[in-house]
Amino acid sequence: MVLLQISEPGQSPEPHQRRRAVGIDLGTTNSLVATVRSGTPETLLDNEQQHLLPSVVHYGTAGEVTVGRSAYAQSSSDPLNTLISVKRFMGRGVEDIKTLGSQLPYEIVARDADGSSSKGMPNFKTVAGNISPVAASAEILRVLVERAELALDGALDGAVITVPAYFDEAQRQATKDAATLAGVKVLRLLNEPTAAAVAYGLDQGGEGVIAVYDLGGGTFDISILRLSHGVFEVLSTGGDSALGGDDFDRALAQWIAEQAGLGEDLGPSEQRQLLMEARKAKEVLSEQTQVNISVAGWSGVLGRDQLDALIDPLIDKTLRSCKRALRDAGLNPNDVASVVMVGGSTRTPRVRGKVAEAFGQDPLVNIDPDRVVAIGAAIQADVLVGNKPGDEMLLLDVIPLSLGIETMGGLMEKIIHRNTTIPVAKAQDFTTFKDGQTAMSIHVLQGERELISDCRSLARFELRGIPAMVAGAAKIRVSFQVDADGLLNVSAKELTSGIEAHIEVKPSYGLNDDDVTRMLKESYTHAREDMQLRALREQQVDADRMYEDLLAALNEDGRQLLNDDEYHCLEVALKDLDKIRQSENHREIARHIEMVSKTSEEFAARRMNASIRKALAGHSLDDVEKDV
Ligand code: ADP
Ligand code: MG
Repeated sequence: MVLLQISEPGQSPEPHQRRRAVGIDLGTTNSLVATVRSGTPETLLDNEQQHLLPSVVHYGTAGEVTVGRSAYAQSSSDPLNTLISVKRFMGRGVEDIKTLGSQLPYEIVARDADGSSSKGMPNFKTVAGNISPVAASAEILRVLVERAELALDGALDGAVITVPAYFDEAQRQATKDAATLAGVKVLRLLNEPTAAAVAYGLDQGGEGVIAVYDLGGGTFDISILRLSHGVFEVLSTGGDSALGGDDFDRALAQWIAEQAGLGEDLGPSEQRQLLMEARKAKEVLSEQTQVNISVAGWSGVLGRDQLDALIDPLIDKTLRSCKRALRDAGLNPNDVASVVMVGGSTRTPRVRGKVAEAFGQDPLVNIDPDRVVAIGAAIQADVLVGNKPGDEMLLLDVIPLSLGIETMGGLMEKIIHRNTTIPVAKAQDFTTFKDGQTAMSIHVLQGERELISDCRSLARFELRGIPAMVAGAAKIRVSFQVDADGLLNVSAKELTSGIEAHIEVKPSYGLNDDDVTRMLKESYTHAREDMQLRALREQQVDADRMYEDLLAALNEDGRQLLNDDEYHCLEVALKDLDKIRQSENHREIARHIEMVSKTSEEFAARRMNASIRKALAGHSLDDVEKDV
């Protein structure tokens, strides 16, 4: 894999005014904002001296919006109008959400355009109207930006916002849209694990493989990075979008409910109450070995051992994802030089213990796991905005699933392969299939499988006005460009005429990491079957081409160049080919292709001679020589 070093273009040597730049960790559960002041990165506090802003938005009847702790406090009394975990919905379609299978109490409606590019996105039905995940995220960003502007005493010049490494085009776009809605300039979207590694200054250290283990409230992400020559490369990512501290809470809440003899059917507000109690107890157990719980008239003591037993199966699940990600990167646990812990749930002693065991080393925990991502983002923002002249490098991210286009036979032709570092630009040449073809339809896809029906369709566009040429003569260069934020731009250009068409891919919804995992898994399990299918489709395309060519040739000069027997013989071969060309038996198609090409060999030779003769007719030898 080619490594790209992206350094900031020439900076003015004279001292300039410091610009106000921040790093924002827009989390599923909590969000933070950080900045570099006097050379030191720090997270910014609100007026209650808290750095964590719960990613919760509450909508009131009078249209008032509250964000953070006060919104979280209303989540049990007014669950339907209190939006939590909106990050899970970013850039997703209504169909995707159905498969999320979350127990969220909101009513979700499909809604089109709402001013941002969140077309066809699910909306939450609240007393304040239908709210898109983008709009709710914008509310969170607004509060963080305000906090920063107060602390830095002026308008922000820009922000680096972090996203999970597996976020696809649509999810990244949705995040950018939220920033636009909140009125903040995005300097760069940065992968969360990369930000964490930067916070630890691992980019200044030696070379080696770094594992970033991020266990937050609702998600688990494992990223395997490699640092070489001062540049990070993301080797693989993995995880589980429905596994996190919330699941610890649920397991514990269930245990408490059993102990307290509470029934199964608690209302939404009792349920939230119970979950909040469970979470509090869990967090206390990170510091103490036991905790007193009292819920609905029941009280008891919970020991750390009991919690460990409840969450062990969940931690084991994360460790299996780690193994998979390592395998994807072609590595073993002992190839890993450092393990970085991110996310509030890595405070749980049992999590630290089991991760240490799995990697055979103590993970890095000395930077607050809640703040580490925001701190790394702030360091990057400081560089990007031009406050740090020098040769500071930016970091490389990776494409989670291959990108390509549809080719004849419903096949996916990969142009940029999975795990390619971004930014990246790649081009491939294609040609026309039919004589005189003047338009070409370009279908952009994402996925690992061979057939387009198994991949995700991202966009379609057409290249028109191709000059009429014989099949195969036009040269159409399709270029894929993925920018540093992971956004895709596709263009197509006919090289002889220079006509061009392009599209910026901004799909209204995309893939979640489960989709990515599922599609990858399928591509492995179906690899053999896919290869056979690919062979079949290619054969069918060849047969089609041969059929069209021979039919045209026979019509044009078959009667002149062939005697009746020969003509009849070729006609029969052509009919057979027509019958067989859509067959599912690729051997049979191959056999016919060979047969027809043998049978038509002589005809082809005569046509060649005839056309030469025609070209020579009426010319003297001198003319011919002059032309050559
Ligand atoms: P996200 O990345 O999803 O926004 P965070 O990284 O903020 O999430 O982590 C939130 C999770 O961390 C919650 O489940 C919370 O209960 C858990 N958490 C916070 N503090 C502790 C603690 N001291 N011990 C155990 N878990 C904690
Ligand atoms: Mg997080």
